[in-house]
Amino acid sequence: MPKPPLLLAYAHPDDETFGSAGTAAHYAALGHPVYLICATRGEVGQISDPALATPETLGAVREAELRCAAEAMGVEEVIFLDYRDSGMVDTAPNADPRAFINIPAEEVITKLVGIIRRIRPAVIITFDPTGGYGHPDHLAIYRHTLAAFHAAANATQFPALGTPHQASRLFFAAITKSFFQAWGEEMQKVGVEAEQDDPIMEQMRQLGYEDDQIDLSLDVSEYLERKWTAFQCHRTQFSADDPMNRLDLAARRRLFTVEHYLLAYPPLDLGAKLTDLFEGLS
Ligand SMILES: [Zn+2]
Repeated sequence: MPKPPLLLAYAHPDDETFGSAGTAAHYAALGHPVYLICATRGEVGQISDPALATPETLGAVREAELRCAAEAMGVEEVIFLDYRDSGMVDTAPNADPRAFINIPAEEVITKLVGIIRRIRPAVIITFDPTGGYGHPDHLAIYRHTLAAFHAAANATQFPALGTPHQASRLFFAAITKSFFQAWGEEMQKVGVEAEQDDPIMEQMRQLGYEDDQIDLSLDVSEYLERKWTAFQCHRTQFSADDPMNRLDLAARRRLFTVEHYLLAYPPLDLGAKLTDLFEGLS
């Protein structure tokens, strides 16, 4: 009996590794086909080392980096939606008509419904309603995936896109306040002083979830090495001299062995924490 598919929907190459690399590797190893949607190629992200890419080549380089990470995770197929990275909030790339945030919802949802009806996942994962730290593309993929999750199940919507499919569960990947705390401590240990005036870090601290808000904490310690390999694939984001590469094994274990999720659908109080994305699903 084939295992039910898992579909991850993120915005940029490397989003998947931070939030869900261990999860993807875990379920792939158990025989679940794992699919990864990436809305953009992260074209306006940072370039850690100018030897790796130019602003013109960054999209293609990051596509290759994502494919490298996908292989480390055992992902079956990477699906690009082919939109452009919109950049951080209030930056010039926001205005590019190709930017993901400027694409009409109907167009994106149509693509996502087509993918969901083709793959027919039992479980879908995307960003939480804060987009982790409020990146406009993270919020957009969250919004469109949520809409497509329901639209894919509705026979009256997009009838030309194939047989309706109701995925059993929708999860939001969530970052906890305790993670940000631990991250700050470990970064300090490798010589990175807390940046008091870093607005993204400040926003992150405010946005993290309390541990008791989390519906499922997946222990992925068995896949820590695969997750680390996936990080290493994203070279333009974490060069050899990135402080992250100075984290020792104990720090990596502390930061990356548990991945957290909120259950977004069905809207049920299950009465207990879940221990598995597919728990109780046949
Ligand atoms: Zn991102």
